[in-house]
Amino acid sequence: MQKLSELQPKEVWAYFEEILAIPRISKRETQIIEYLESFASGHGLDCKRDHVGNILISKPATPGMESLKGIILQSHMDMVGEKNAHVKHDFAKDPIQPQMDGGWVKAYDTTLGADDGIGIAASMAILASDQVRHGPLECLFTTDEESGMTGALGLQPGFVKGSVLLNLDSEDEGEIFIGCAGGIDTVASLRLKRKRTVRNSIALRVCVNGLQGGHSGDDIHKGLGNSIKILNRFLWNADQRFKIRIAHLDGGKARNAIPREATAVITVPSKSLELIRVYLESFAGIVKKEFEVIEPELELTLQQVEMPDSVLRRKQQKKLLNALYACPHGLLALNQEIPGMVETSTNLASVKHIDEDTLEIVTSQRSSVESAKRDIADRMLSLFTLLGARVRHSDGYPGWKPNMDSQILRISREVYAELFGKEPEVKVIHAGLECGLFLQKYPDLDMISFGPTIKGAHTPEERIEIETVDRFWRFLIRMLEKAPVAG
Ligand SMILES: [Zn+2]
Repeated sequence: MQKLSELQPKEVWAYFEEILAIPRISKRETQIIEYLESFASGHGLDCKRDHVGNILISKPATPGMESLKGIILQSHMDMVGEKNAHVKHDFAKDPIQPQMDGGWVKAYDTTLGADDGIGIAASMAILASDQVRHGPLECLFTTDEESGMTGALGLQPGFVKGSVLLNLDSEDEGEIFIGCAGGIDTVASLRLKRKRTVRNSIALRVCVNGLQGGHSGDDIHKGLGNSIKILNRFLWNADQRFKIRIAHLDGGKARNAIPREATAVITVPSKSLELIRVYLESFAGIVKKEFEVIEPELELTLQQVEMPDSVLRRKQQKKLLNALYACPHGLLALNQEIPGMVETSTNLASVKHIDEDTLEIVTSQRSSVESAKRDIADRMLSLFTLLGARVRHSDGYPGWKPNMDSQILRISREVYAELFGKEPEVKVIHAGLECGLFLQKYPDLDMISFGPTIKGAHTPEERIEIETVDRFWRFLIRMLEKAPVAG
């Protein structure tokens, strides 16, 4: 079998292979920080670390290129650690095992960390090269992009000097990103009021599963099923008919994922068992019909379980079912200038019992328009305030507003067309990039984002398309040569 080190461009894959062996999930980046520092000292390059762990390695311009504007190559050093349930893998110490799969590289049953390991590898290959020609160069490696962007948040004014930033963290070769959505979470904590279960009733578990799930930014406009919304719709309707009582409600996982599964434990009067079974059948038929194209595996099931000790009080249960029913989910607005670009969305991400007495509802809002992001976040706040929950917003992160007059964008279009004989697609992404945060500290930075093609990021299906790494590399090198002249 072919090895990573035999792939082109050799130098990028060689560093990528080294990085795979270094544990680096978010918030546990010590080893990768030390690795980058020793790489810099091994190559006699200036290296500094800031108070949040961001690393900046600088390299002077190659001879004759001193008059170019300073360029910052930026990637994040952390990765998401996700694995298939049956595998034993300790992300704190085990290396990622890569494998070739057709024209792709993936890992055995874990995330690969090409997001954003390939950005790190390309930056290192340029720092180590005596062939690549460039102006004054800085490589910025940020920490903790995946679980809070605290590296980009903590970046201080003055830490980097360059005025043009190339973010190497997007995932479709042939596309150049010039903007991204900002995001904020709205989290409701509900103190549960319970009462003991009554006699002459039985307990049932209702499950919704088989949904695809997806990223709450990239996939929000696709009309995918939301397991919590579907389960709640069933419960709301069943409540009108059978006097159900909810004991337990659980759905969704991460704040940035569209929920795939949800379950509820309910009680119903014993005599209603058959009726509720029949009702579930007919309800499932209706919902499956609605989703038959996009969610062909959708399933609703009912199963008798052990009687719980207590259930929600009637009044609170009604309010909860109403609130979740009224809670918006999905695409809310399209951009008025760029056709088809998602502008504002919200994800009903999870419902979980934090303890016996507290239910937490997590929602996440995105918009490339700051005021629209605020508006939908406040709408969620008012909805869950009506429910009687304690509601809080996360700090959130700002969007990156597209600048159609950007000099580096113009250059990138020319370079791409010259190399590959076609125009790149210029896009705004409905997910978060660190660029919005950089702009807060460095308002005059001229930025674009690009990368090789990565599919299934943040899942054990993550894979990177080999051929696009070569194109990404050629494009990157040419961008450095063609960088704008200072002044
Ligand atoms: Zn990333």
